[in-house]
Amino acid sequence: MRILLMAMALLVVHSVSAQPLTKEEKAILAKIDAQMPETMKLLEDVVNINSGTLNVAGVRKVGEIMGKAFQQAGFQTTWVSLPDSLRRAGHLVATRKGSKGKKLFLIGHLDTVFEPDMPANPYRKINDSTVTGQGVNDMKGGDVIMLAAVRALNDLGLLKDVTITAYFTGDEEKAGLPISVSRADFIERAKQHDIALGFEGAMALDIVAIARRGSSSWTLTTTGKQSHSSGVFNEQVGYGANFEMARILESFRQSLAGVKYLTFHPGLVAGGTEMKIASGDVHVFGKTNIVAPSAVAYGDLRYISGRQEDSARQVMRRLVATGNLPQTSASIRFEDGIPAMEPTVGNYALQEKLSALSMAMGYGPTHAGDPGKRGAGDISYIAAYVDCLDGLGASGMGAHAPGETMDLKEFPILLKRAALYIYRLTR
Ligand SMILES: [Zn+2]
Repeated sequence: MRILLMAMALLVVHSVSAQPLTKEEKAILAKIDAQMPETMKLLEDVVNINSGTLNVAGVRKVGEIMGKAFQQAGFQTTWVSLPDSLRRAGHLVATRKGSKGKKLFLIGHLDTVFEPDMPANPYRKINDSTVTGQGVNDMKGGDVIMLAAVRALNDLGLLKDVTITAYFTGDEEKAGLPISVSRADFIERAKQHDIALGFEGAMALDIVAIARRGSSSWTLTTTGKQSHSSGVFNEQVGYGANFEMARILESFRQSLAGVKYLTFHPGLVAGGTEMKIASGDVHVFGKTNIVAPSAVAYGDLRYISGRQEDSARQVMRRLVATGNLPQTSASIRFEDGIPAMEPTVGNYALQEKLSALSMAMGYGPTHAGDPGKRGAGDISYIAAYVDCLDGLGASGMGAHAPGETMDLKEFPILLKRAALYIYRLTR
């Protein structure tokens, strides 16, 4: 009997989690449909303003338009300026405060990877289900979803007494340095909330991100004894900086390639007789008959957790320090980057809630995507403090490449899902 009761209780819990849409929720869907023409107009307007990260005026212009739209949706807006030395536009923050439900922190970014000197790609409908334009998928589509979702809720009087902050960074694609300055306000404000929702591009209608890999970098230098190359491999001359570089890179690959969620790649390798190094630029001179005295490699490291980052660094340090070829030396330096958004219990719970909503809407369950397929993002800076879900933005293809597209058929579905999700979380 007790077992039966428990089974019934489980059934009840399950049916509650997949509860059908309420009258209010159906009204939200109708509102979004009615507002769709203005929503698409806003998307076209912001896509047609170049807002490459370094185009400060363009980023501010997009911020102005989005800010005005949020004010009309009952939000207060502020512009967070950064010191001139960072050469970045700053961030747009739209807030409303109350005491009901979970406190939400919605994340977007105003900038794109496309700077004004790159070929323009104005907003253009390719066919019934596809639109192209700079940043339409990454992530102006997601920005507009954030706005249109809260606007519909506000217009129906459903945001009374709730706390929502919509935070749009102006330098997501190329964060101003140091990060401790460019992300200070972002992190501080996020900590005052319960849940962060990222509107970066959706991988698919049924995939969301409960984890994102972090990313940092390393610099490996090797030295050797400059000599005539005819003497290489003998006791006095040894092997030179280039063979030592090759040894270490190959040992990294043999020891660490294939570790789940861990990747690294030496994006720039140089070695020779004379080297001039200036931020990301290496000028190198060498001769075939001289054993190279110095070599350098710059690489990245991507990881699913701080623990994985630490242990990879340990292995790399050990490989650099042991087994050095005769007459060579090597050292490695690690630079901190973006932390990982780890797959926490809280993040999974958010995905479960979204899945229940998606089923109630008739679209089937949603699933946690493979973190190995996503890069790092702004949400990662705050993942240690609040429950997080990302990938709630527009779906599409070819982010960061010319001709990037957004899926027009899925856009209204993702927008409606976002609005109902925000509504349910703030009850
Ligand atoms: Zn993005």
